[in-house]
Amino acid sequence: MKDVVIIGSGLIGASMAVSLAKIGLDVAVVEASPARANTQTSYDGRTSAVAQGSVRVLSALGIWQRLGDLSPINDIRVCDNGGRFYVHYDHREAGDEPFGYIVENRLVRMAQEEAMAAQSSIEMIQPDSVKSIEHEPSHVVITLESGRVLNARLMLVADGKFSGTRALLGIAVREMTYGQTAMVFTIEHSLAHHGVAVERFMPAGPFALLPMTHQRTNVVWAEPDDMAAHMMTLSDDERLQELRARVGGHLGEISIAGGTHSYPLKLLHAHDYIRPRIALIGDAAHAIHPIAGQGANLGYRDVAVMSEVIADAARVGLDWGAENVLAHYQQWRKLDTLMMTSATDGLNRLFSNSIRPIKIARDLGLGVVNRMAPAKRLLMQNAMGLTGDLPRMMKGQAA
Ligand SMILES: Cc1cc2nc3c(=O)[nH]c(=O)nc-3n(C[C@H](O)[C@H](O)[C@H](O)COP(=O)(O)OP(=O)(O)OC[C@H]3O[C@@H](n4cnc5c(N)ncnc54)[C@H](O)[C@@H]3O)c2cc1C
Repeated sequence: MKDVVIIGSGLIGASMAVSLAKIGLDVAVVEASPARANTQTSYDGRTSAVAQGSVRVLSALGIWQRLGDLSPINDIRVCDNGGRFYVHYDHREAGDEPFGYIVENRLVRMAQEEAMAAQSSIEMIQPDSVKSIEHEPSHVVITLESGRVLNARLMLVADGKFSGTRALLGIAVREMTYGQTAMVFTIEHSLAHHGVAVERFMPAGPFALLPMTHQRTNVVWAEPDDMAAHMMTLSDDERLQELRARVGGHLGEISIAGGTHSYPLKLLHAHDYIRPRIALIGDAAHAIHPIAGQGANLGYRDVAVMSEVIADAARVGLDWGAENVLAHYQQWRKLDTLMMTSATDGLNRLFSNSIRPIKIARDLGLGVVNRMAPAKRLLMQNAMGLTGDLPRMMKGQAA
């Protein structure tokens, strides 16, 4: 009997496994892709803006310390296409720490793999996935495609927004396609970025420049699906022409380094996060528009909250896979993720159009926020992931 079986070893599932092993539980992780496949550059060209709250979680798990050079986000500039107004967030207005860091997903996955390998109580099962699930009062019986059968006191589903396991469980979702596709690639440039992240809201979708290490910047460029499909057929030279016009001159000479990846954008929210002895975490529970770079940050908060409710129950000898423990997790996380889902959806709707009165109103809004110190400070702390009902790991304590 395993204590916990986690389905999916992405950014969230892998962190969850390390956290539960540190609490002293016996964990199996079932991952569909073959070993080392998801640490290749060809698998994922994205970086993540990792907020300070998530840095604390990954540090508590010993994952953060395994990452090498990191690129801090010192300033964030938000502007509307062609608008005169922008908001400039300087981390010094919120405190001593940077807002967070831009880290390549591939590197986080490598650090997570090392951290999992260092825990003898984690068994990695890959490539494999779930074929069927049966419920018993004290455990779940999970039959894998390979034929192996796992018994677990708790199953955590972390197989991403297209979660096959969630579908197998019959958990309904609210979903909406944005009709936008994000193209993601990295550029090298001759001038320093000084840790400034730029978010430009274009009518077709957001365009972001995320400062990386070694004079590189990750570009996230959203366009309507058909335009993005066309742009994916262009050569680097052709794409560079349009890119130079958007970036302007502040990065000097620019060139595209490596391949371009594309991600159709979708909002997805599960109606329920829990079933008896089962819970959804990360994108399997909630996938949001990347406009504010918060999807994985929400997932790291799931990890911190789930770890805390399990640790608290285990400490007093309670059944930590029981319904009331999982209900506590769901109650704690659902409101927060719903609020972030609405906020990012609203931001995208507000900015992805060029209707003149809306454009004037939002430009005025950006100008006002830029001059209101308290409003700015609150928004900055929010972006750092340090607001709301924080779990202990996000306060720098153990789960
Ligand atoms: C363009 C873009 C930019 C983004 N930028 C940011 C950002 O700056 N900051 C941020 O916080 N978030 C960002 N996000 C969101 C972030 O990438 C996701 O929230 C995060 O990857 C979710 O992690 P996850 O582990 O839940 O799911 P995933 O990363 O999707 O991992 C799921 C894992 O499960 C495995 N799997 C799939 N199906 C099965 C199965 N049936 N059985 C077993 N295993 C399975 C997969 O192989 C994978 O390893 C961005 C998203 C996009 C699209």
